Amino acid sequence: MQLLMAANWKMNKTCAEAVDTLTQLKAQLSGMDADRECVLFAPFTALTACAETLDNNSRISMGGQNCYPAKDGAFTGECSPAMLLDAGCTWVLTGHSERRAIFGESDAFIGKKTAFALESGLKVVLCIGETLEERDSGQLAAVLERQLREGLAGVDVALSAPNLAVAYEPVWAIGTGRVAGPKEIVEAHTLVRSFLRQRFSTQGHDLRILYGGSVKPENAREIIRLDNVNGVLVGGASLQAESFSRIALA
Ligand code: PEP
Repeated sequence: MQLLMAANWKMNKTCAEAVDTLTQLKAQLSGMDADRECVLFAPFTALTACAETLDNNSRISMGGQNCYPAKDGAFTGECSPAMLLDAGCTWVLTGHSERRAIFGESDAFIGKKTAFALESGLKVVLCIGETLEERDSGQLAAVLERQLREGLAGVDVALSAPNLAVAYEPVWAIGTGRVAGPKEIVEAHTLVRSFLRQRFSTQGHDLRILYGGSVKPENAREIIRLDNVNGVLVGGASLQAESFSRIALA
């Protein structure tokens, strides 16, 4: 299984800034081991320019940070999976905690997006994770189980394993500088793996589970060596090429 090292630039970078960072990344990651792949979730406005910066030898793929579950139509401000494919993307993020908390996306809606994006030919990273309040009140397993059940409700059990990854991102560790400890990461990833095995049978063993939440060059190596950690999803520390490439090569 290849490790998936993912960068989420969120609402940062103009086109020129994005291309400049990606050009540096491309050079820094040219010697990356074959046991890993990178995906860059860039803002919509920079996707085409970034995709044009890549070539067949690049070890990086492009992804959209969001999509709407319809082919086209009257959905002002939204972007369809077909549009992301057209812009050179192969991936999309669904269920990011900022989409859930700031934009009020429900588990059911995230499930629709995930299934529709996969049916449309995109690969998907589905993000899940508990708030501190949920963790402190003993709801970790129930929250992850609900987010997985509903987030994957419409996904075909016969899917190809490299096309779907789940990112476990405890909300209290995103952008806070507070990284989950090894015990907390392994506990959550074990719960996710067990759900995926039940839901997808043997395929569930091969789906990648990423950790996200204050990953930095200093802690990436320790995290990717933990059981059932098959990559990372990085926000703040992915904005500089040097810092993300140190993580991707960790
Ligand atoms: C994220 O936004 O998915 C994320 C993990 O952010 P950060 O690395 O900044 O915590």
